[in-house]
Amino acid sequence: MPLSESPTPATPKSRTSSTPEPAFMDVDLMHVWQLLDPAEHQRLLEIRTFLQERLRPESIDYWNREEFPHHLLPEMAAHGLGNLQIDGSSDLFKGLVYVEAARADVSLSAMVGIHNELIVGMIHQLGSKEQKEKWLPALGNFTALGAFALTEPDHGSDIAGGLATTATREGDEWVINGAKRWIGAATMADFSLVWARDTSDGEIKAFIVESDRPGFTATKISHKIGLRIMQNADIDLEAVRVPESNRLPGVKNFAAANELLKHSRAWVGWQAAGVQLGIFDIARDYALERSQFGTALAGFQLVQLPLAEILGNAMASLSLMTDLARIQSSGDLEMVQAAMAKSTTTRLARESAAKGRALLGGNGITTDHEMAKLFGDVEVLYTYEGTYEINSLIVGRAMTGISAFVSGH
Ligand SMILES: Cc1cc2nc3c(=O)[nH]c(=O)nc-3n(C[C@H](O)[C@H](O)[C@H](O)COP(=O)(O)OP(=O)(O)OC[C@H]3O[C@@H](n4cnc5c(N)ncnc54)[C@H](O)[C@@H]3O)c2cc1C
Repeated sequence: MPLSESPTPATPKSRTSSTPEPAFMDVDLMHVWQLLDPAEHQRLLEIRTFLQERLRPESIDYWNREEFPHHLLPEMAAHGLGNLQIDGSSDLFKGLVYVEAARADVSLSAMVGIHNELIVGMIHQLGSKEQKEKWLPALGNFTALGAFALTEPDHGSDIAGGLATTATREGDEWVINGAKRWIGAATMADFSLVWARDTSDGEIKAFIVESDRPGFTATKISHKIGLRIMQNADIDLEAVRVPESNRLPGVKNFAAANELLKHSRAWVGWQAAGVQLGIFDIARDYALERSQFGTALAGFQLVQLPLAEILGNAMASLSLMTDLARIQSSGDLEMVQAAMAKSTTTRLARESAAKGRALLGGNGITTDHEMAKLFGDVEVLYTYEGTYEINSLIVGRAMTGISAFVSGH
């Protein structure tokens, strides 16, 4: 398919049904979208239209108010966004949906990614037959929501060794004690997937903890500078009792978490590629619309330079992720590749966001013009799913054979 047949998003305010085809090239310079088969390509275009026309314009106000647009969930479900993990989609298609979602709004793309990679994926791969039957159909159409509860107040980067939440077996039940921090959607979810250390054998296990269990409380974390639509929460677990049937039988130790995190790190790489396309969309539109010194900004060399740099960063990220999807599809993905992709694409995204913000001048300082919203969101991509530094250390360890995570060792 030629580039021009792949529609280019425009800013919500300038997009109308009578908007003529832009005279400039589409952003798919590396022909990545063309790698999809025709059915997936068509489906992606429909999803892109929904995300650009419906979700993106609404997201700005919800982001400013730190609220979640619950009314959009049924529409997101109607476009299959709740079921990507198990509907037979190719890794490339799923990745490009994550790209288009992040291009429209990073918070809602986080909702879609965590839901698919870490909730549906975890229950599908590691849950019991009964757990799958009970939760997967409702998760698939967003009538049920889950949260992924791994990080703790005192253990972020060192969670693998430091995880302090405990689970103690008492007869046919488990008693869970501890605290979790930063848990996405926990205030609105039906359940959290809680990672806890078995007090008898010291191994990490995982449990479905329904939000109405006595002793479970989730408190929203406010005043975030990014991902403001996502309702992140502090969770307290005070002698919460769950039946043995709520334990995920596939989780025997932390290796299960690492396997999930490998793929969810790849998802953040797609998010980083997508947000850079969003940054480019906004920057190019602004440069064409705004005039100074009697000329459109886009006519100045020093404005075309950051536009070219942002697009170059976005394409480098997209191409890297497309190669990662090829490895994913062959079943050979290793943590070092996911960590390298996540750290590299988020580093580039941070650079692109800074250039995009500067290009909007003063209007890059207010979220009304969208760019500042993306500028804040990129900071979260840089930090969650393993910080930039931790993912770089994973790469460094693989390349030198020396683990540098703990100083003095
Ligand atoms: C918006 C948001 C959403 C999130 N959503 C979820 C979620 O849904 N579920 C979930 O379980 N978690 C979630 N997280 C948690 C996230 O994964 C952690 O924030 C992240 O792993 C970092 O942990 P930390 O914040 O405790 O930072 P720390 O581990 O305290 O790190 C602080 C700084 O020290 C650096 N550092 C730490 N150790 C080393 C080292 N050995 N060498 C060099 N530098 C080091 C880090 O890179 C960082 O710069 C979310 C976080 C955010 C901000």
